[in-house]
Amino acid sequence: MAEDFGKSKSTKKEDKNLEEIAYSILQVSREAMLILDENFNFIAANTVFYDSLDFRSEDSLVLELNNPDGAFKTLKDNLLTISLNRPITDVEFSINQYNSGKRTFLVNASKMLSSEWLIISFSKKTDQLDNFDAIFSQAPAVVCLLKGPDHTFDRANENYYKIIGHRDIIGKTVREALPELEGQGFYEMLDNVYKSGKAFIGSEISVKLDAGKEGLKNSIMDFVYQPLVDPAGKVTGIFVHAIDITEKVEARKKLEKSEAELRKLIDAVPAIIWITKSDGQNYYLNRKWYEFTGQSEVEALDFGWFDAVHPEDRERVKSDFLKANHNRKHFHTSFRLLSKTGEYIWVLDSGSPKFNVDGEYEGMIGIVIDIDEAKTKEQIIKEKEHRIRTIIEEADVATALYTGKEMRIEMANDAMIELWGKEKSVIGTTLHEALPELEGQPFHDLLQGVYATGETYWGKEDPVDLVIDNELKTGYFNFTYKALRNEKGEIYGILNMALDVSEMVKSKELLRESEARYKQMADLMPEKVANIDPDGKVIYFNQGWLEYTGLSKEEFEKQGLENLIHPSEQEDFQRSWEYSLKTGRDFEMELRYLNKKGKYKWHLNRTEAIKEENGNIQLWISTATEIQKIKAEEKRKEDFLKLVSHELKTPVTSIKGYVQLLLSMLKKEKEIPLTSIPFEKSLERIDQQVVRLTRLISEMLDLSRIEKNKLNLKKEIFSLNDLISETIQDINYTNTHSNIKITEKYNCHVYADKDRIGQVLINLVTNAIKYSPQNSDVEIKIKKAGESKVAVSVIDSGIGIDKENQKDIFKRFYRIDFKNDETYSGFGIGLYLANEIMRRHQGKLSVDSEKGKGSVFTFIMDVAASHNS
Ligand code: ADP
Repeated sequence: MAEDFGKSKSTKKEDKNLEEIAYSILQVSREAMLILDENFNFIAANTVFYDSLDFRSEDSLVLELNNPDGAFKTLKDNLLTISLNRPITDVEFSINQYNSGKRTFLVNASKMLSSEWLIISFSKKTDQLDNFDAIFSQAPAVVCLLKGPDHTFDRANENYYKIIGHRDIIGKTVREALPELEGQGFYEMLDNVYKSGKAFIGSEISVKLDAGKEGLKNSIMDFVYQPLVDPAGKVTGIFVHAIDITEKVEARKKLEKSEAELRKLIDAVPAIIWITKSDGQNYYLNRKWYEFTGQSEVEALDFGWFDAVHPEDRERVKSDFLKANHNRKHFHTSFRLLSKTGEYIWVLDSGSPKFNVDGEYEGMIGIVIDIDEAKTKEQIIKEKEHRIRTIIEEADVATALYTGKEMRIEMANDAMIELWGKEKSVIGTTLHEALPELEGQPFHDLLQGVYATGETYWGKEDPVDLVIDNELKTGYFNFTYKALRNEKGEIYGILNMALDVSEMVKSKELLRESEARYKQMADLMPEKVANIDPDGKVIYFNQGWLEYTGLSKEEFEKQGLENLIHPSEQEDFQRSWEYSLKTGRDFEMELRYLNKKGKYKWHLNRTEAIKEENGNIQLWISTATEIQKIKAEEKRKEDFLKLVSHELKTPVTSIKGYVQLLLSMLKKEKEIPLTSIPFEKSLERIDQQVVRLTRLISEMLDLSRIEKNKLNLKKEIFSLNDLISETIQDINYTNTHSNIKITEKYNCHVYADKDRIGQVLINLVTNAIKYSPQNSDVEIKIKKAGESKVAVSVIDSGIGIDKENQKDIFKRFYRIDFKNDETYSGFGIGLYLANEIMRRHQGKLSVDSEKGKGSVFTFIMDVAASHNS
């Protein structure tokens, strides 16, 4: 621009002088100067012009000059009014350049005397208002100048333009330029200031302005409407000065809000919170303090809060606190704090130094906690835990505590350690590590199940394999797995209590086995066995009972043992049995039970009580032994004894009678001649009775010998035929009525006790005579029997013996009962002795008989070897 100085597009020769003059003027002027020709064509401009009006080149200036709607439009209109003697003075000219903004100048122009050229000067406005731009353009405030009663925009600084979105406002009234202010009260305020001439100061006024691209924007402003007054005191306009405090207010509000929230929060904390200033004086105490101590805010002021500390603690606390405050160190102490109820409560007070962002010490912030409850609570928990631990440690019941899913052994008492067969060092390890032998057993899964569900597991006589002394042993345990929960109800572990019941399980097993064995044994016994409970109910009976009664198990149970008893013994039984049940005394009774054939058989019933250690009856065991045979034999013996005494008495009485008769006759010898005394007959009678007695006595002796196994045989070889012939002669001698014949003979010798064999024969023959009252014929046959045996049969045609009695007649004292009055004397010993004698000779005695038709008694014996003929 300066380099371009002097150049002109339209230099003419005739104007040369003029031109030079003009250039000179331009050069010396400190004002911005411009020279145009009469048609407003550019002639020249000085450097000040270019700088002041902010044109970068001549071209841009010419372009603007030639623009009919450009900045020079109104100026040109004014310039048209210039004539030689009428210059224009102080015409306002404004230009708004992109870089420098709007600038206003006062223009003076006149025509050059010698030509039509116009010489124009632009001087910056110098009145107070003209300094506007210089003062306010860069001011941080929002500033504008309004003129006239309608508040026409005269000036506005950059910040103003910014908040209104760079709208073109100069020359427009506020109402025209900023229609969005309608209803916000600003027009009215301006009117007021203009009319009253009094300034208006607004603080934190909210205003909504159209900010262009950003749209309607709310701002908060502090502002002043200052009336402008001319020297005559008349208001000419209003100076508007505003400061946008939107951000500040928002930040403050935010701060206020967060502070309020913080206070609310602090007040809600269930503890006392305090803040002190850097000198240690109270700055803030939350609501809890006032609630707790009952102090008023005034009372707590400065160091007033120390008044609530127990007098005995006060000095210590104060000096501790001030020391901490001075050193800007952590503060920690406990003391008794006076509550509003007049009670002192132990509290824990701890504070920390507080520094601001710049690192300056601001004081302390701290918290006071009621430790009275915490102290006791802690104590209680500790004691409780200690108690539980002691109980578990000393419990006889094996107890362990596992924590976590991994089942870490938190605790295990000695009983449990012993049960496991491990060392105390397993505590702290996991169950997996401590008892690897549990792998493959159900316990890990059971524990995990309890841990997951919380349901207690009860183990009953569960077998557990444990390695004890390097040996895998199976034990049986009753145990529980119980989930342990924390305060929140979450499972954190499992309590395991176990009882070794191996012995019990084993003895139960043994009991089961022995019971089974007992039953097996009882079933095998020929005896009848029953178990009866303490109430008298039959709970078990063996096979023997079923076999005897022919009943099925169900029938037997239904029938009941008592109903099998013979009616004659029922009453006795009931009485004795009830007595035993009541007293627990053993029961013993002979009674008859009904058998499957409908017959009652004698039994000895013995029932004994099995008692528990305390004497209570656990069970009755009852056995019934059939004693029918014994009973019968007893009866036979009884009958025998009766018979014997009778049989002994009869001959003795008879002998005594004859002897007395003879004696009395002899005494009366003088009256009765000796010859008339019946000596022979009486003596014969006596002899007969003596024979009877002798036989009876010898049989009795033989019986006792046999029973004592002292029957000695004097064996010799003799002819059986001869013995039998002699014996029959003897019998015939005393039994004159009978007719005994040997119809068959076998000549042989036997090696035997001759007298005993004779005795057998006598026995058989006398029986044959005795039991044949109608027919006294007796036949004897001696026959060869087999290779080296001889059979001797005694045959009669007497009363005979029915089949039922045939096998019994060889028994001791056995005599057939006859219902009618038939009686046969005898002791039931003869056949028994004969049978025994034959047995001892390796022979055999047998009977073949039919009732009413007679009997055949045969004995067979060995023939002496060298005497067989
Ligand atoms: P007793 O002294 O009673 O004859 P025994 O032992 O000799 O004793 O005989 C036993 C029973 O056998 C007798 O009571 C009788 O009933 C029966 N008995 C023995 N021999 C005969 C016989 N020949 N005929 C019929 N009954 C006989």
